[in-house]
Amino acid sequence: MKAVELVNVSKSFKGTQNREFLAVEQINVEIAQGEFFSLLGPSGCGKTTTLRMIAGFELPTFGEIYIEGQAMEKRPPFHRPVNTVFQNYALFPHLTVAENVAFGLEMEKIPRAKIRTQVTEVLEMVKLVGYEKRYPRQLSGGQQQRVALARALVKKPKVLLLDEPLGALDLKLRKQMQLELKQMQQQVGITFIYVTHDQEEALTMSDRIAVMNKGKILQVGTPVEIYEEPTSHFVADFIGETNILRGRVVKQQEDELLVLIDNQLMITVPYGEKIAIDQAVNLVIRPEKATLYPANHEDQFGTRSAPQSSWLGKVEEVVYIGTDTRYVVRLGEQHLITIRQQNIHRSYLQQYQAGEAVKVSVSADSIRLLLDY
Ligand code: ADP
Ligand code: MG
Repeated sequence: MKAVELVNVSKSFKGTQNREFLAVEQINVEIAQGEFFSLLGPSGCGKTTTLRMIAGFELPTFGEIYIEGQAMEKRPPFHRPVNTVFQNYALFPHLTVAENVAFGLEMEKIPRAKIRTQVTEVLEMVKLVGYEKRYPRQLSGGQQQRVALARALVKKPKVLLLDEPLGALDLKLRKQMQLELKQMQQQVGITFIYVTHDQEEALTMSDRIAVMNKGKILQVGTPVEIYEEPTSHFVADFIGETNILRGRVVKQQEDELLVLIDNQLMITVPYGEKIAIDQAVNLVIRPEKATLYPANHEDQFGTRSAPQSSWLGKVEEVVYIGTDTRYVVRLGEQHLITIRQQNIHRSYLQQYQAGEAVKVSVSADSIRLLLDY
């Protein structure tokens, strides 16, 4: 049984001049029990609306939602086996940490002794033992977020919905909480549906990610699939740093294509299916997959399985960023390509200077070809 299933779910709102506006369009997704599943996309793409429909705060205009195999159509939020954690915590300021966490259980008239044990248990889980008597204003942002999490977990939901829960925290704390949240999720085994606009966060935490844009899900996959095998221009561009070169097919032979970029650069890419000559394509090259060499470097054929494409270029920009150095290299007249080289050895640091002629080399099997525009 799936933890959550969305079948053809759409949501329209009345926009300006009473016109219908589709905030979520024909979403189909299946989320497994115990999965850490993220909805990732830019602001306004429909993530919160999707989450609110699962929680029951909004009803779909079309489509069905199932949680643990049960249709949710007629179920109000408090009768759904889910709980939500929001970015703004929504803690009661006049209640202590323990009272905030106990609140939901007291509403359900659970015996006091049992409430106390459960509150202690969950505060241990979020590392807030010793903070029971404090008020929210006496806590840091990270601690307040833990209380919000404890309050949601104490009710033992089957599914926890989290809407940009770390958005208000500074970068260092956010990174730390990402790892803690992930560990916690594995520990409690609850299905998490996590909304974020931060692609790095989604890659770090998720078992699977649904990438959304303009109300639609464009791709669902593991972090590796989403990063390495984007199926659209949008996903390739939204996830990580990317070079996307437009070109057209000039020749197909066996499982390889020759693609010409602006009548200047020729690139070999692997491609098994039939494709029309002159077909317009996008080539996706991740910055870490290209290598820089001195301009007079001889290509070494035969030492690697995949053919290499190499072009001469000129370094325009060098930025040292600790683990890597980021180079922007001009190829031909109008193409800039970003390349990241890891600084494994000290001699690699800023190996090439701005203005220097270089050779850029990419293995054909690390170039991804996209047909869309
Ligand atoms: P996200 O969480 O991805 O930033 P939302 O789901 O909040 O996006 O919003 C998606 C779109 O729906 C936005 O254009 C937003 O303005 C619109 N929207 C959300 N809620 C409402 C509402 N209650 N009434 C009208 N429009 C809404
Ligand atoms: Mg939102």
